[in-house]
Parts: sequence; structure tokens; C-alpha cells
Amino acid sequence: TAEAPAISEKTLNSILEKNRTYYTQGKVADYIPELGKMDAKAIAFSVVDKNGKVYNTGDVSKKFTMQSISKIIALMIAVTERGEANVFDKMGYFGSDKPFNHFSNLETTGKPLNPMMNAGAILTTSLISGDGDKPFLKVLDMVRFITKNPTIEYSKSVYESEKATGHRNRGMFYLMKNNGLISGNEDQLDNYFRQCSIELTAEDLAKIGYFFANQCVRFDGDTTYKNAEIAKLIESQMLTAGMYEFSGEYSRTVGLPSKSGVGGGITVSVPGKMGIGVFSPSLDQHGNSLAGYHMILDMVKQFGLSIF
Ligand code: GLN
Repeated sequence: TAEAPAISEKTLNSILEKNRTYYTQGKVADYIPELGKMDAKAIAFSVVDKNGKVYNTGDVSKKFTMQSISKIIALMIAVTERGEANVFDKMGYFGSDKPFNHFSNLETTGKPLNPMMNAGAILTTSLISGDGDKPFLKVLDMVRFITKNPTIEYSKSVYESEKATGHRNRGMFYLMKNNGLISGNEDQLDNYFRQCSIELTAEDLAKIGYFFANQCVRFDGDTTYKNAEIAKLIESQMLTAGMYEFSGEYSRTVGLPSKSGVGGGITVSVPGKMGIGVFSPSLDQHGNSLAGYHMILDMVKQFGLSIF
């Protein structure tokens, strides 16, 4: 296999500057009112190379909520606790041509399409053991571990904003309860809202990308959670559903397991090699960061990173 190419902050910065103005073509998410307050012009780009070395450019200290990127962490924990067969007995491995908040397939097969769309992710979080907010705290602890950043917290204001306006997610939660997939109370939905509100930086996202790219080994070589099969599962879900209904086209143009969130972040795993984290809160119609996508695209072209 080819060595990971040499990277420099200068190269990353020229990619960032080339794509900076894409924010004007998208829109900051405001269906969660608190998210609408984000600075549309903020932009950051981080890479962790094969050796765990970090490269940062742009608004590197800017924090944003991880939103749907938390779904891969919750999936890792649920599968570790219950086994893959138990989790995927309740949901599918399917891709989708529907947006992230679609009810598919709760009204037909009765089960969510995959753990990357909201329905499957809400179910996944409900499958993590523990009462009250314990499942959320497990997700938070895992994010802190993977990033080696114990200062990571969640945003109470974003959490409260999601809880107050997330009626569609609440609808999915109760439909899955009706279908016999969810047994607990609304605390379990709260844990999903809380995990979406975890705040981090592009560098933290690059470290998460690195972790799943390298069999769940941390960027500093810590092997506490090393598990090639779980990494493969997460990467395959990222590839087929991580960018929602854009995942197919994204596989063609970028060709890397990636997960986006409506906070404007995208985490990318370059299998066996590096992690990439991007941030720009202006989104395309699918809910994926627009400048983020274009920075990833340029990075992939310049360094030949597609898995295909
Ligand atoms: N918290 C968001 C929601 O449930 C997450 C969606 C996303 O990032 N795509 O609507």
C-alpha cells in the first residue's frame, strides 16, 4: 500500500482559501433555532496524518455542535455492548434517497433504514444501557477519549432548543415505541438530543475520523478500543449513509467514509491512513456543509485519497 502523502498546513490553507466563499451558496440550519445563530463565515480544516500528527488551518478554536456525527459514536457503543446482530435485528444496513429526518421505513417494514438517519440513530442511542442520562454520558466520554480532549462538553442551549422544537424526532421515537423497538421513556430521546449538542472543533473531528480509519486505535497509538470489525462496520455505514441521500454521489466524487452534521462539521476516514475534519456551517439542501464538502473534494483530488 502507498504511503500517506506529505501534508503541510500551507497546502491545507490554500485549499481552505480556494473554497472559503462557498458559504454564500448555502444556508445555516435554523430549524433548530439556536443553530441559526452560528457565524456563516466561520471555516476550519484539520487533518491527522498516518503518524497521528495534527495539521490545522482556519478558525481552529471555533467550537460547533457535532449533531449527526455523534451517531457513529453511539453506534460503536451500542454494538460493543449488544453485538452487531442484536442492533441490526432492529434496523437495516440500507442506503436512502430520503432526507435524514425521513420516517422510512417505520410505516412499512416497521424498522429504520439505517443507524445514520435520525430514526435509526434515536433507536441506537436507546439501545445503550443505563438509566437517565447515563447513555449520553457514555457517548460524551467516548468522544473525550477518542479526541483525548477532556474539556469537551455539550451545549445546554442547543440541547434545549432541539428538545423544544424536535417534534418530528419525538414522532419517530413514539412510532418506534409503538413498533416494539423502543422500551424506555423520553429520557432516551433526550440522550439523543444531548449527544447531538456535544461541542467540539474541526481538530476533534479529524481525530474521530482517524480513529475509525485505523481500527479504533487513537491518534496517539492508544489501543484500548482497538477493534477492526467495529471500525469496518462504522466506515461502511459512513460510506453508504453518512451523507444521507447525497451518499451515492459523494462516494463517486470523494470516495471516502464520511459523516456530516447540521452543525456544519464533516468527519472523514481515509482507511488505514488519516482523519480529516472540516467545519463551515452553511449547508446544502441535504444538510451537508457546502464549503466542507469542497475542501474534502480538493484534498482527495490533490492527494489521491479515494478508496476506489
Ligand atoms: N440533531 C439533528 C436532528 O435530529 C441532527 C441532524 C443532522 O445533523 N443531520 O435533526
